[in-house]
Amino acid sequence: MTYEPTLQFAYRLDEADPLRGFRERFAFPRGDRVEPLVYLCGHSLGLMPLDARGIVMEEMEDWARLAVLDHDHARRPWIPYHENLRDGLAALAGARATEVVAMSSLTVNLHLLLAAFYRPSGDRYRILIEAGAFSSDQHALASQIAWRGLDPRDALMELAPRGGMDTLPEESIEARLEERGSEVALVLWPGVQYRTGQAFDLGRIARAAHRAGCVAGFDLAHSIGNMPLALHDIEADFAVWCSYKYLNGGPGAIGGCFVHERHDRPHLTGWWGHEPATRFRLRPEFQAAPGAAGWQISNPPILSAAPLIASLALFDQAGLPGLRRKSAALTGYLEYLLARLAPGVQLITPRAAESRGCQLSVRITGPQGRGRRVFDAMTARGVIGDWREPDTIRLAPVPLYNSFADVFRGAEALSQALRQEP
Ligand SMILES: *Cc1c(COP(=O)(O)O)cnc(C)c1O
Repeated sequence: MTYEPTLQFAYRLDEADPLRGFRERFAFPRGDRVEPLVYLCGHSLGLMPLDARGIVMEEMEDWARLAVLDHDHARRPWIPYHENLRDGLAALAGARATEVVAMSSLTVNLHLLLAAFYRPSGDRYRILIEAGAFSSDQHALASQIAWRGLDPRDALMELAPRGGMDTLPEESIEARLEERGSEVALVLWPGVQYRTGQAFDLGRIARAAHRAGCVAGFDLAHSIGNMPLALHDIEADFAVWCSYKYLNGGPGAIGGCFVHERHDRPHLTGWWGHEPATRFRLRPEFQAAPGAAGWQISNPPILSAAPLIASLALFDQAGLPGLRRKSAALTGYLEYLLARLAPGVQLITPRAAESRGCQLSVRITGPQGRGRRVFDAMTARGVIGDWREPDTIRLAPVPLYNSFADVFRGAEALSQALRQEP
């Protein structure tokens, strides 16, 4: 596509966008401004689908009306509440409906899945992750290792990009697993790396892990709702995600996980994973519900699951293929506009569309401290992105609600901020 650096051009792309109507289904933050802020931060917290308010209010009304009887008699009965989310999540994860479940939160789910899937034995006890993984994942992995009496400094194998590079080609992961895979019990890889925005070919990673005899688990925090996924077909062993980023489930929204149907292994349990027909007999014997539903521990947080129903309906209406097409065009436009700001701005994210989702990460060059000042100046101009120490701004135009005009305004504000902070 050939782009032009004008607001008129951005408006023309918006007029031609078949998904433009979805923008009106979201609440755009304004702060105390008249004009809405330019929101390019869906990678941290997705916007509120307007329909979410009504669904949450229905749960509040039902609670007021029937209280405990709502477990069976609410508009959406509370006992099987996770079923409201199942098909939508399965579609986004590329999974069978029985392989996914909405439950708990990302890091807790990671712990639960590691408890079942991380089985160090003999010389095969290491966990392979990317260097610079998100802190919570590192904490979870290190504590799982230590909890088994091993030393995280020894057992956590971090793979870094080659000298001077920001991103890591899949070949490097394959090469590491060919060389040292026999030491590795489990590979935990991100679908999209949170800092660089690099998207990985998860099928390749799963195959390489399995060839080496390792479990392949994925953290999809920045991937679900952003990238096409095919967890069932690539035979991923397990995956976890949160729902407040690209899934627009709201702050602290219920998380999710995937367990491939070929797995039937011992795991930590609670009453909500019990076969529903006999759960309320409250017997001490555990009879697992089939599939991922059997991994649930507690009864679900209805109020933090309700907004996700509204968001998943929008994904279903918009359709992932169309969203992905728009996403590539939006992010391509952002890339084009940011390239005009070089050398003050350097793109970290890969240039190939298949190696990134909607997010672009840029390094602000120049003296120490300048990046932060540029970011603050951009924010003062009404553009919401986010800042990662020491020098990186992350911007994510989200195809469900962002426009080409948002992208133009975001890049324009960054350009002015760069001129303001020489
Ligand atoms: C956002 C994010 C988390 C957040 O974890 P919570 O348990 O939801 O607080 C964890 N890991 C990664 C990679 C993330 O991007």
